[in-house]
Amino acid sequence: MTDGFVSVALGAMPSFTNPNNISVITGVPPSLHGISGNFFLNPATGQEAMMDQPEFLRADSILAKFSEQGAKVVALTAKDKLAKMLAYKLRGISFSAEKADKCTKAVNGIDNCPAYVGKPVPSEYSADLSLFVLEAGIRLLEREKPDLMYLSLSDYIQHKHAPGSKEATEYYNGIDKALGRLLALGATVALTADHGMNDKSKADGTPNIVFLEDLLDKQFGSGKTQVILPITDPYVKHHGALGSYATIYFKQPISATAAMNLLDKQPGVELVLNRAASAKLFDLPADRIGDLVVVADRGTVLGKSKATLDVSGLGGMRLRSHGGLADRNVYLMFSRPLNDKYAEIALSRQLRNFDVFEFVLNGLH
Ligand SMILES: [Zn+2]
Repeated sequence: MTDGFVSVALGAMPSFTNPNNISVITGVPPSLHGISGNFFLNPATGQEAMMDQPEFLRADSILAKFSEQGAKVVALTAKDKLAKMLAYKLRGISFSAEKADKCTKAVNGIDNCPAYVGKPVPSEYSADLSLFVLEAGIRLLEREKPDLMYLSLSDYIQHKHAPGSKEATEYYNGIDKALGRLLALGATVALTADHGMNDKSKADGTPNIVFLEDLLDKQFGSGKTQVILPITDPYVKHHGALGSYATIYFKQPISATAAMNLLDKQPGVELVLNRAASAKLFDLPADRIGDLVVVADRGTVLGKSKATLDVSGLGGMRLRSHGGLADRNVYLMFSRPLNDKYAEIALSRQLRNFDVFEFVLNGLH
């Protein structure tokens, strides 16, 4: 931060893991790469599905392109939900910390990962899941000398522990030490995030939720709409599928204006847009969002119904989550300063987290 470059940048909407990680590795927003959430209603099948398969990608990854041209590339992720898309068309080393013990030379370009890294496979709910990725990156940099390396961490600690808490501070110390070791090994380090994180709880500590399905069913009758929560993923302890962004499909014709007016007046709802407006404003793929997009404010999340709510995974802790406009401020940092051309670009327009590869490859002194 002293010798390099640091700025706040904006992540892509929705401020979730998959859309933003894919934006970072493709350099483009979801309207071009197609990943509109961690989870979506697949228009091809009519089924709700995880958005974790390469078949959903509509853009090439920078990592894959570099590897095609003969660069030595490494792509590691903490959570396995990103592993397949990160590895797509990548000729190099790619694996997730979560499944590090399942690596094979044929699929991942490396085997015996825990022994290679010198750490056991960490729990999916731990700080170690991310620290394993950094440790693996350090080992790989020492031994394989890759040209380009992408290390994607988990936000488990940020979900569970507020900034300033003992756990968060310990975690950031661990990250800081690992970044220092990468620098000492001669790497140019670029740092950004997929999304921010905010406390989404009421004063009594329970999650602050607007139940969209309950509201819509009450006004229009049950079964007329389908609410999709694109934060949904297999890691229920992080957020219980509660985030600040949702999309709604009309299963039967209802008045879009009436639905928008109903949702718009709910406390905690920041913005309700129809498909065309949200695709345009948020750079989203119009065919992979519903008839409406709803965004909650900094302190609020969107759920389906009170009756089906299950927050047991949260373990009674305050809900910290993301997904909305208030959750997309992230840092963009480089270990070296910008060159003149990119210093000018940085002043002339809004920086995005998915500028990171362009800047680190072309824009540093
Ligand atoms: Zn998260």
